[in-house]
Amino acid sequence: MCASEVASSEHYQACHSCDWLVQIPSLAEGEAACCPRCGQPIASRPRFAQQRPLVYALTSLIMLLCANLLPFLSVSTQGLGNKILLYQAATTLFSEDYASLGMLIYLVMQLLPLCCLLLLGYVMLRLRWHGPLDLSRLALRWLFWLQPWGMVEVFMLGTLVSLIKIAALAEVQVGSGFWCYVAFSLAYLKSFMHLDRNRLWQQLVGPVPLQVEPIAPCSARELDLALCHLCHATVPLDRGYCPRCQSRLHARQPQSLQRCFALLLAAIILYVPANALPMMVTETLGSVMNSTILQGVVVLWKMGDYPVAMVIFFASIMIPIAKILALLWLCYSTHSGNPTHRRGRTRLYHLTEFVGRWSMVDVFVVAVLAALIRMGKLMSIYPGDAAVAFAGVVLITMLSAMAFDSRLIWDLPPSTVRKPE
Ligand SMILES: [Zn+2]
Ligand SMILES: [Zn+2]
Repeated sequence: MCASEVASSEHYQACHSCDWLVQIPSLAEGEAACCPRCGQPIASRPRFAQQRPLVYALTSLIMLLCANLLPFLSVSTQGLGNKILLYQAATTLFSEDYASLGMLIYLVMQLLPLCCLLLLGYVMLRLRWHGPLDLSRLALRWLFWLQPWGMVEVFMLGTLVSLIKIAALAEVQVGSGFWCYVAFSLAYLKSFMHLDRNRLWQQLVGPVPLQVEPIAPCSARELDLALCHLCHATVPLDRGYCPRCQSRLHARQPQSLQRCFALLLAAIILYVPANALPMMVTETLGSVMNSTILQGVVVLWKMGDYPVAMVIFFASIMIPIAKILALLWLCYSTHSGNPTHRRGRTRLYHLTEFVGRWSMVDVFVVAVLAALIRMGKLMSIYPGDAAVAFAGVVLITMLSAMAFDSRLIWDLPPSTVRKPE
């Protein structure tokens, strides 16, 4: 940065994970910068960030439309059969007692991703052909609020697992709508991989002056600065809101540990019915069989489907327990001011944040099976009450991870805050 330039959010960024104020070097395309204190990625400059997100978003939208119009999956056994379109994997549940579960699945597997793609497409086009700034700012805010809740890749895995499960019961055929959904998922993920949130906001609204000149390495809070978690600008805290995206600002998330802990307790309570009640009800030739998550894993293991059994075991049993235990320990160690292993604890936090959504796999498996296996008394599958409870566990643990503010790990003790590890 030149001596004559005023320090701004363009040159300095507070680390999302530890609040360390870092001077961002000029990055070439494809380069990324990491925080020197906690080691987490802090800024990046994806290649072709102007073109690729728009191209992938448009491809993704077309593929999603095709995926909904073309046959998704079909199944047949002993002269009876059924075929479904993509949206029916969720909407079949509307007509039964599981409308809320159906709506949730429909939201996360295509409605929210669709909204994100439309918002992203609008903002990228706005950057090329100037439009109203307020509308673009609103669109970007909604885009980054909704984006964490899209679960296209998890639904894809759930569908693959269902295919393997169905193959053991009947003849299953994959339609062209399925391949369109695969293409949609890949293009959707790529469109966000090539997106630089900070740079996007910078192009749209511009940098924010810091009003102070950072001299020695320090945390943003020591200079009354804060990172806006929505637009990733580092801005003066005194305003109370981010001048770039208008979000409310906090030096630390209010009652972070309390909210995280309360949500964890709710998840633990809900985890009991999620495992004790039946996840899936199978009706075969008039006989009804209920199976819990664990029973489903045992049946798969006995049938020799070891990889699928392992996927369900890890996603539905290991990950929720590990995530709850990890967050409980992070809450406790942060509350007690433990100054050790701060880098490791920060990494653990980001890992729990990343893996939590994958637990939805089993819920998606049940939804696809319940939509597809509809052959009357010969063979039908319905979701059990545990599916609703388990989806609740996944969403609540995701909320509890979002409530945890990892910067608190680095706040204590004050005497060591200034020293990068
Ligand atoms: Zn950091
Ligand atoms: Zn902001």
